[in-house]
Amino acid sequence: GSAVHWFRTKDLRAEDNVGLTAAAKRAEKHGSSLFTIFVFNSEELRSHGVGNNRNAFMLQGLKALKEQLKKQGIPLAVKSCKSTKETVDIIGDFMKETGSFTLFANFEYEYDEIMRDIQVVDRLQENDMDFQLLHDQTILEPGSLTTSTHSPRKVFTPFWNDWVPAVNKLDLSLLPVPKQPGTSVDEKFFNSKDEADIFDTKLDTSLEKLWPAGHDSGIEKLNHFIDKKIDRYGNERSTPAKDCVSRLSPYFALGFISAREALVAIKERKDVKSFGTSTNGVDSWVRELAFREFYRQMVAVVCPHIVMNVPMSLKLNNVEFVDVESKEGKDSWDRWVSGTTGYPFVDAGMRQLNSEGYMHNRLRMNVASYLKMTMLLDYRLGANYFANHLLDWDCCNNMFGWDPSLTVFNPVLQAEKCDPAGNYIRKWIPELRNVFGKAIFDPYHRMQPKEFEKLGYPAPQERQKDLQDCKKRALERYKRAY
Ligand code: FAD
Repeated sequence: GSAVHWFRTKDLRAEDNVGLTAAAKRAEKHGSSLFTIFVFNSEELRSHGVGNNRNAFMLQGLKALKEQLKKQGIPLAVKSCKSTKETVDIIGDFMKETGSFTLFANFEYEYDEIMRDIQVVDRLQENDMDFQLLHDQTILEPGSLTTSTHSPRKVFTPFWNDWVPAVNKLDLSLLPVPKQPGTSVDEKFFNSKDEADIFDTKLDTSLEKLWPAGHDSGIEKLNHFIDKKIDRYGNERSTPAKDCVSRLSPYFALGFISAREALVAIKERKDVKSFGTSTNGVDSWVRELAFREFYRQMVAVVCPHIVMNVPMSLKLNNVEFVDVESKEGKDSWDRWVSGTTGYPFVDAGMRQLNSEGYMHNRLRMNVASYLKMTMLLDYRLGANYFANHLLDWDCCNNMFGWDPSLTVFNPVLQAEKCDPAGNYIRKWIPELRNVFGKAIFDPYHRMQPKEFEKLGYPAPQERQKDLQDCKKRALERYKRAY
């Protein structure tokens, strides 16, 4: 029988794709054909809070993938539905329609996605068909790095210390784009009428130039980053005005490019023999890729509940938050989403997010702390807003980024440290373009009232004028929950 590779939302590329390669090999071995399918379950993405722009970015990449595969003689069927049950039906029917016996896909580690895959296994077994799930998202399989007593690593530094030598030992050769092994695939599998509507979704025009979709655009950005920025990354990655981060997160999130491709490109372009003893810039960046792998390991084998909107530490599920429907809560929320809290570093971050569908990591940490601790709103509100606005939304990274802890950032001190010249703030907050010196970090408290009023920039909410007091309130509430 033929073989099918089922693309999901995290492996949308033909290059270096473990599941796709395995499906092609299976078809070749049986002298039969390779088919591929993508099922756009809008409800699944909506349940995670994912917004239109990210969907459009994903579908544009999918369209490019479909065209690329077509040139290889491999059809990609794109179907849409609104429920897991429909997804299971679509996959089951497609297997029959194409005369296939084995379905291949790459693992998705989140709970709902695993439950969906179990239903698919059940459906295929009814028809004596087989479902093979492979590891593709990470370089090392989640769960493979363990302590001496064989439990998975739960702390990042020891994980990283094990990760580096394990990766250095690997042969990182990339998997080539497969060709259709079968002889004749019916034309009808290449042209489906109902797909036009799906591909019609568009990114906001302001985002199109910033985020060209698909594998080739991702590789172009990757190479540019390695050639022009990675050397500065170690020293400047926490200084958002320096613009030395890769902005590759949307490409990794959707699997337009693989982490293996990133390491291979670094080895080639920087003549790196092994990681861990390389230059500061290269190793600092690779460490972030390892963070991404660590979070996948945590979700797969340590705390799957974190992607179900429950904090890693279950006790913190009982924190008494400010009700977002209350007067204080509603005002806080409106200010947070619109970037008008009165603290420039926080506001600049939120305005970048609303404008670019992206935010620098340092700002993500700051706006998250401001929402969870200073405003004391439920962290899940913020996580959901991020899902709705980030093009790089990634369930594991986002939930770990938002996970409650006792850390509280002071947005004024953070701005002084990470944006010392105020350039990032000035870029995103036109009201403050002409403010210089230390006033830009906290204009309400550091300018004469008359001068401040002229700016047209908001004062912080009454409750949030005293950051120390807000911090005290948050720590008391969090500690009470422990
Ligand atoms: P670079 O600095 O160039 O890093 C390279 C790659 O490493 C990134 O593309 C990303 O894949 C990975 N990476 C970098 N930092 C982290 C990190 N802290 N954790 C895990 N992986 C990392 N990242 C997402 O991809 N999607 C999200 O939805 C997301 N939500 C976040 C929410 C919060 C509250 C916080 C604090 C962080 C979140 N992150 C998320 C992690 C991080 O902020 C982004 O990955 C990073 O800013 C993306 O920018 P970049 O590609 O320029 O990163």
